[in-house]
Amino acid sequence: RIVNFIERGVPISEWPADFFHNEDNIQQHGFLLKQGVEAGSAIEALLDRGIEHILNELEQSGLRGCGGAGFPTVNKWRFCRQIEADAHYVVCNADEGEPGTFKDRVLLNNYADQVIEGMTLCGRIIGASQGFIYLRGEYLFLRQKLQQIIDQRRQNHWLGQAIAGVEGFDFDIEIRMGVGAYICGEESALLESLEGKRGVPRIRPPFPVTHGYLDKPTVINNVETFAAAAKIALAGASSYNQVGTEDSPGSRLLSISGDCARPGIYEYPFGTTIKQILIDCGASHTRCVQVGGPSGVLVPNTDFQRQISFEDLPTGGSFMIFDESRDPLAIATNFAHFFAHESCGFCTPCRVGTTLVKNTLDKVVNGLGSDNDLAELKKLSHLVKAYSHCGLGQTATNPVMDSLTHFPEHYQAKVKDQAFTPAIDLEQALQ
Ligand code: SF4
Repeated sequence: RIVNFIERGVPISEWPADFFHNEDNIQQHGFLLKQGVEAGSAIEALLDRGIEHILNELEQSGLRGCGGAGFPTVNKWRFCRQIEADAHYVVCNADEGEPGTFKDRVLLNNYADQVIEGMTLCGRIIGASQGFIYLRGEYLFLRQKLQQIIDQRRQNHWLGQAIAGVEGFDFDIEIRMGVGAYICGEESALLESLEGKRGVPRIRPPFPVTHGYLDKPTVINNVETFAAAAKIALAGASSYNQVGTEDSPGSRLLSISGDCARPGIYEYPFGTTIKQILIDCGASHTRCVQVGGPSGVLVPNTDFQRQISFEDLPTGGSFMIFDESRDPLAIATNFAHFFAHESCGFCTPCRVGTTLVKNTLDKVVNGLGSDNDLAELKKLSHLVKAYSHCGLGQTATNPVMDSLTHFPEHYQAKVKDQAFTPAIDLEQALQ
């Protein structure tokens, strides 16, 4: 259904409200979803066992950031804790804008206490008294519910001044809304937006952990990371890392959508193969899977033995299934339109390059392209990847390169044998 919505250009705000809220779609068999964390329980664990104990548990668990980059969570928290400053901040990145990803939406809707608990732990550990949930603009409907939970926690002394009656344990959370810019899911652009500025990615280093919100040391983590940290603090490292691989311990939530009988949220140990996931969600005649959203990896059906893990296929949670009725060229074109639209415009290779890629793909799709256009597409894709300022541009042409590599016949079927000489040397022009 999601693929159909995307193909028809239906904005997410107009998708059926019940789609993500169907409890049948949530497979409650994993570490995160099987049993949530009750309000206050992880905080009590922190107060009982101490900060160093919780940090050691996080270290032993091997928890890595769930937003996609996979940076070890404990390293970020420890580093931030060591930096002396008059203020530290905690930011929850809930700007879940990757097409095909909707797991954070379910976590915030059904497990908000657990997410907030993780943020509060982080606040105590790094010495922050203020946190923010940066909520995706399209998730406006969640705001009231989240605010009620925050208010309730204040009343119960799980947020605010002297949490759990402990003098000096002060931490509160404010919800800030995004307004629909995909780039604000990138952590430094998010921080700019949080400060009331245009959401443009910062030059890094320095990184947010030393110079984050208002230039202060800041831990910024994804919704799932905070939820997992709370569960690890409560249940211990072994409850998390008893599954997974050596380099990728634990599990990962996947938003599974597209051509399958049972789309929804699934929790899988790292190391699970694509083949297994496709069996579980009732997919058949699958041509390819897009892992990690449009900026991720297009996996053809010859490679379905590949695994979800940081060492093979890292993902921020998006798993889009396309069966044999789908045209990889049409998919790549759809994604190219998305990136051309979402490019923030700050740097030329991405601003101009994504539009050129989109226009060239449109030309090919409409049967007006040539072999030279395909050659230009490859060249352009490499240029945009190599010279763009941030991750958006550096990954925007992945779908084009992947589909050209794995499904060249779909491109060839559309091109005419026309001579074409570029007016300028693009590589030289962009240098
Ligand atoms: Fe903006 Fe794209 Fe440049 Fe990133 S790569 S800064 S999104 S124009």
